[in-house]
Amino acid sequence: MATIAENIQQVRQRIAAACAQAGRDVQSVTLLAVSKTFPAEAVREAIDAGLTRFGENYVQEGVEKIGALAGLRERLEWHLIGPLQSNKTRVVAEHFDWVHSVDRLKIAERLSAQRPPHLPPLQLCLQVNISGEATKSGIAPEAVRELALQVSRLPHVRLRGLMAIPEPAADAQAQRRPHRALRELLDALNREGLGLDTLSMGMTADLEAAILEGATIVRVGTAIFGRR
Ligand SMILES: *Cc1c(COP(=O)(O)O)cnc(C)c1O
Repeated sequence: MATIAENIQQVRQRIAAACAQAGRDVQSVTLLAVSKTFPAEAVREAIDAGLTRFGENYVQEGVEKIGALAGLRERLEWHLIGPLQSNKTRVVAEHFDWVHSVDRLKIAERLSAQRPPHLPPLQLCLQVNISGEATKSGIAPEAVRELALQVSRLPHVRLRGLMAIPEPAADAQAQRRPHRALRELLDALNREGLGLDTLSMGMTADLEAAILEGATIVRVGTAIFGRR
């Protein structure tokens, strides 16, 4: 079985090839390693292989890992990418650097109010239900503009962009469609002067399609840590 370091090398090659195809600088794509369900030792291996940014889905599990790796905290960036309930916002505001899954004003307001003053603003993305799936979390595309304008006015958070988990699609062309739709949504917000720089899209199965459509953060779990 390949080691985590070997897997990271392969993912980096996939990102580089997609950037070359898209005519993009490889530095314009950030690799976020999704470590959910894997122990802190696996994260440590990824750190030894050069990664510094990690994504967690579950608040409690994430906070435990952040604690287990507290000695490295200054070097690391922790991103919450899973659903967030309002009774968990305080611990998230106190421990994480980013939240990708904001889909309600109330959550963003609480994160802003609860962000400790000695920390930099919490970096936020709005999660968009870009494929229109009934069961998926995320805000409807039509509602993004109003939420973005409201969140961008909060003092202790900084709205950076949009995040989506598109429905799986079989072929490469079909994979690109929802990613393109998310980029077009971001472009529309930026035409209104919101100054957003982040498109969090693309996972193990579709990172190439996402990069071709402008992803700036790809969230990769399985290809780095193995099957969950
Ligand atoms: C689990 C997860 C990922 C990583 O998915 P892989 O297919 O394992 O790469 C990315 N984003 C979110 C929101 C996830 O929940």
